[in-house]
Amino acid sequence: MAAFGLPGSDLLICGVLLVVIVVVAISWSKANANRGVPVAAQGGGAVRFCSNCGTQLGDAAVVCVACGASAPRTAATTDAPSIGFAVLGFFIPIVGFILYLVWKDQTPLKAGSAGKGALIGFIVNTVAVIAYGIAMAALLGSY
Ligand SMILES: [Zn+2]
Repeated sequence: MAAFGLPGSDLLICGVLLVVIVVVAISWSKANANRGVPVAAQGGGAVRFCSNCGTQLGDAAVVCVACGASAPRTAATTDAPSIGFAVLGFFIPIVGFILYLVWKDQTPLKAGSAGKGALIGFIVNTVAVIAYGIAMAALLGSY
């Protein structure tokens, strides 16, 4: 019976690792979202105005000081396809998928890269898992 316990514990370790990776990815993504604003403001130098009353807004402003209307910072963030996140999504599809969900509104191009990588990685991983399952079945069957 001991031999049959091993695949189960492997799955448990994989599950725990995935949860840890997901938590780290989400917190890292949130930290980056906050850090990204000054960088984008420096690079673009774009001046923003309130869409409600036309008052000029500060780089870090999230609400208009004159009328209180919300001023989303999405216009100041740069968006571009990212090979790095596509590769990340390919190797860890669940992280790529989560990044896609987190970014799809603010940076659709970057989100698309992570999402495509995740999709391709998911398909490749599924094929690999099926191949692994067939191999394991063949191994167990041979005992
Ligand atoms: Zn305003």
